Amino acid sequence: MAATCSRCGLCCRAIGIRQPKRELRSLARQGDANGRFTARHWHRISRAEALRRNPGMAYRIESARASSLPLYFYECDAFDAATNLCTAHADRPPVCRGFPWYGRAPEVAWLLPFKECSFWEDVRERQLGLLAQQLAALASRRALSERLADLRARRFARTLHRGVASRD
Ligand code: SF4
Ligand code: SF4
Repeated sequence: MAATCSRCGLCCRAIGIRQPKRELRSLARQGDANGRFTARHWHRISRAEALRRNPGMAYRIESARASSLPLYFYECDAFDAATNLCTAHADRPPVCRGFPWYGRAPEVAWLLPFKECSFWEDVRERQLGLLAQQLAALASRRALSERLADLRARRFARTLHRGVASRD
């Protein structure tokens, strides 16, 4: 069962993406739904400000540095910091609607910057599911190897029996 947003507001306080503002404007000109909203409502903030708002952004900074990818920080003028709520909920763009999984399987790495996010529940559930699959695979491997050992033991006993019988 998928988790639901607890409205902590953390993912809206500071937004870290690979696109500079000129690229958002260019996407907007092409009619892209994300570009149309973000070019208008997202405004650049400094890295230090992003870290002040969400210290977890250090993970995103480190990951961008490790992969030599650009990273730009923004604030959204539709975010109400006093209530932690989105004031454009009905008009929010796909990049906000799909957060955090965008239809993909839950991933630890994607959520690392958002310590208080309620979607960690999905990560825990997926990990428990994977663990259960691994345990089931181990149990079936073990049952198979026990069956093989049993067959070998029976074959050995038959061979031994034949050997004794032929000597009699
Ligand atoms: S549109 Fe709403 S959900 Fe998206 S960043 Fe702004 S405040 Fe957050
Ligand atoms: S960080 Fe997670 S729980 Fe908090 S507002 Fe964003 S999606 Fe909702």
